[in-house]
Amino acid sequence: MHIYNEFKSSFIIVAFLGYIFLVSGLIINFLQLCSCIIWPFSKELYRKMNRYLALGIWSPIKKLVKKLYDDEKPLVFNFLEYINYTTKTKFFHCPLYHATSCPAYFTPSNDFENLVIIFEHIYRYHATDYDLIRNIKDKWYQEQKNLSSSSSNLTTDIITLHDVEELCETSSTITTKTTYDDQRPLKGIQYYKLSNELSSETSAAISNFIEGHINNNQLKQKINSLHTEYLQKISNV
Ligand SMILES: [Zn+2]
Repeated sequence: MHIYNEFKSSFIIVAFLGYIFLVSGLIINFLQLCSCIIWPFSKELYRKMNRYLALGIWSPIKKLVKKLYDDEKPLVFNFLEYINYTTKTKFFHCPLYHATSCPAYFTPSNDFENLVIIFEHIYRYHATDYDLIRNIKDKWYQEQKNLSSSSSNLTTDIITLHDVEELCETSSTITTKTTYDDQRPLKGIQYYKLSNELSSETSAAISNFIEGHINNNQLKQKINSLHTEYLQKISNV
């Protein structure tokens, strides 16, 4: 009888919490449905509304960021900062940039709202890392920081454009008898790499635009600078 009572009282609590979760989700879904009315008039406002409504459902992200943010020693992500030399603007890399070479970039600020955007991205695109961060956030943070500081002499097995370039340089200096035809495959890799780089960076910029991180002009500027950079690199091949 005792166990039964225990079960009954815990069941009531669980049912109550479940009910709240379900109802709040339904209310947000209903509000999202209502926001469709705004869409023909202002797509900007519609996007904004939906972002906040979605964050309502994804409150775990806000909770996590609050945990990172409200601490006595708040985590500062300045180590993610980099300068795009073509546009001469500062950005934050994706925190998982070193592990995944994820091309996403963010506004370089440690504001609560900005951190929510960054962690929303991690939640969506790097789910396993998100769980890791939630469980061992300090360790994860320190790891990322170390990775960033040692990135200049970081050697990986992944063939980056730089590796290919180096490979080309060494191969042409060591084997002095290389003909134009011998270099074809290597040059082909370079062209492949460049075109992939361009398309992935362009898609990243477009998705940043869709998610509202950059405006229309910034997107155009970004695409323009990417293509200028690309043409420059192509002419160097
Ligand atoms: Zn990412």
